[in-house]
Amino acid sequence: MPRTQQAALSAVPAAQQPVWPDPAALRTALAELAVQPHLVSPRECDLLRDQLAFVAGGGAFLLQGGDCAETFAGAASEAVGRKVRLLGQMAEILAERMGLPVVTVGRIAGQYAKPRSWPTESHLGQTLPSYRGDAVNGLAFTPAARTPDPRRLLQAYRTAAGTLAVLRKQDEPASPGDSLLPHPRTSDGGPGGNDFFTSHEALLLPYEEALCRTDPLTGQRYGTSGHLLWIGERTRNLDGAHVRFAAGISNPVGVKLGPAVNPDDVLALVDKLDPQRQPGRLSLIIRMGARKIRDLLPPLVEKVAAEHAPVTWVCDPMHGNTFTAASGHKTRLFDDVFDEVAGFFEVHRTLGTHPGGLHLELTGEAVTECVGGTPAVLMEDLDRRYETACDPRLNADQARELAVAVGGLAAR
Ligand code: PEP
Ligand code: MN
Repeated sequence: MPRTQQAALSAVPAAQQPVWPDPAALRTALAELAVQPHLVSPRECDLLRDQLAFVAGGGAFLLQGGDCAETFAGAASEAVGRKVRLLGQMAEILAERMGLPVVTVGRIAGQYAKPRSWPTESHLGQTLPSYRGDAVNGLAFTPAARTPDPRRLLQAYRTAAGTLAVLRKQDEPASPGDSLLPHPRTSDGGPGGNDFFTSHEALLLPYEEALCRTDPLTGQRYGTSGHLLWIGERTRNLDGAHVRFAAGISNPVGVKLGPAVNPDDVLALVDKLDPQRQPGRLSLIIRMGARKIRDLLPPLVEKVAAEHAPVTWVCDPMHGNTFTAASGHKTRLFDDVFDEVAGFFEVHRTLGTHPGGLHLELTGEAVTECVGGTPAVLMEDLDRRYETACDPRLNADQARELAVAVGGLAAR
């Protein structure tokens, strides 16, 4: 990036950035990232955008899911394969029940940075910086682990590359049917094949900018850390650096919208992030909470529909339904999660728009982090296998059950 553009970008306030104690080490890490190969290619990003255009137009459904926070340690385990296979099973269930092709996008190979409600955390009289994801600091509650370390940005890059290699390994000529990552040479570009795409929250802007590359074919700029990059609820300030960053790349992008958003804000975001009204470019990821979605979503959909903006409407039924159980665990009720999706479908059915997809936090493991489902996880069970580094995830049974139930909504 030219120096002037970089200076302009850093003059815009960026919310939710860590305080790196060693600026020289940060500069060294970023310089190293800037000369690494891209993790995903512009053509793959274009392919996802084309497939999301089908979703926006009502001809496909999006399934996006994975951990709230991926950990570096988790990348080395077979849990990655189980998570990807779970998403594949859910996609099959949804496709069959809805009669639509499903576009599958993992929260994977890059979901290493978290926005936090509080910059610090206190425990037994000690106050330390909050955990901000493995790309920034460690989860262990010690001063050493919690100190932001820019070398972790390089480890994030390497871990994402390793996870992508695991996904691409199945992309061998001998077994083209097992291809997980998109393979534009053999793909007809339509949704519903075996393509699997990656996504994460574009939170750490210096990392994301260091991995931006200009496509030599088109001269367009892409974030090459993942196929789809989204802006979180806490960083979607219209004049902030995250919106500006997303506006400057050609990837498909998303923005989370919580209960505080109003229709004018949404339209302003659409104008900034998708000024050309390109189908598949922008996903609006709604996370209102089960009790609010039926009231808060209609005015947003009406406003956007009146502008004929071809956005993809996506339901995140996780983040508006989080609460702390008596045991102290952050959790979500399966019934609330499903109810928010049901409300999302009801609103779109009423307005004649397409409920385009789901954005979920899930894992292929038999964890006990969300309550409910069959076999039921009870409040008393939360402590048994509560393993998330951040927010509570649906376990494999709960995730499949949700896919079956959501598939049923389409048939109603
Ligand atoms: C998340 O997706 O983990 C997250 C922090 O979501 P939101 O920005 O919607 O709060
Ligand atoms: Mn989360």
